[in-house]
Amino acid sequence: MIIDSHVHAGEYYRHFSAAFAQQMMPTTGMPPEALTAPEARLLAEMDAAGVDRAFLLAFDVRRVEGFSVPNEFVADLCARHPDRFTGFASVDAGTPGAAARLRHAVTGLGLRGLKTAPCYLRMSPADPLWNDVYATAQELNIPVLVHTGYTPAQNADGRFFPPRLLEPVARNFPDLRIILAHLGRPWTTDSLDLMARHTNLYADLSIFLSYQPLAAVAAVLAQARERDVLDRVLWGTDFPFATMADSLARMAALAQDPAPWPANSHPLTPGEYHALLGGTAARLTEPASAGHSAPSSPREEHR
Ligand SMILES: [Zn+2]
Repeated sequence: MIIDSHVHAGEYYRHFSAAFAQQMMPTTGMPPEALTAPEARLLAEMDAAGVDRAFLLAFDVRRVEGFSVPNEFVADLCARHPDRFTGFASVDAGTPGAAARLRHAVTGLGLRGLKTAPCYLRMSPADPLWNDVYATAQELNIPVLVHTGYTPAQNADGRFFPPRLLEPVARNFPDLRIILAHLGRPWTTDSLDLMARHTNLYADLSIFLSYQPLAAVAAVLAQARERDVLDRVLWGTDFPFATMADSLARMAALAQDPAPWPANSHPLTPGEYHALLGGTAARLTEPASAGHSAPSSPREEHR
């Protein structure tokens, strides 16, 4: 089972603004118009790469960027393809009623995770305004994917890029599973430090894997293995900011080729490879884990 844990829904013109696309896409080498993921393109990308399922993300940055990819839009795609998509809601804690919107997105629309974009909203992920949202996500037992690390978006606030800002959140919400997007690049070592001390923290490889030299990725994965946190790292692409087939080819190389790995390390084992590609993502969102009666400790979710 191959799960891309970081995929953006939304369409150029209809959702994303031209200014946002023009700022975001140059670092990918693709034109601004490539920032679009209509249903047919999502499915074609997944089919061509052999991806079984995608975590499909809403994106609420309306207050700052003037646009959003609505929860309803993502829910509609998920309802049409429940075998391919797991939907993540997005809310802005800087607007009133965010926790109630999250609850509706999960209990009413059927979404199964939360995506937040604190730096894009010019807020710290540890701003107390998020507390109701985090408490609701914890109660609903859904994972929260938090943007961490650099973004070229000019309206974003760079003070809120570092993953270390999430430490008080991890401590105050011990049963909330938090995914550090992009491994918090360039603060990847900080991300691993946090994960080593807080077992409710996870991280995804999106963007980092696609655009860094393979040796840099292997060095970080070797570090994650040493710190005993590799089983909480998820493969993801950030499509349409990166392509699935290329990213999977890089994963295959990391499993087969010792060359990019540090001298004292070794390629991904089959167990590590399968956990990265989907095993860990599946256990974060499997239907049986939704609801109050689910195990509250992240350690107990291995069934
Ligand atoms: Zn993203």
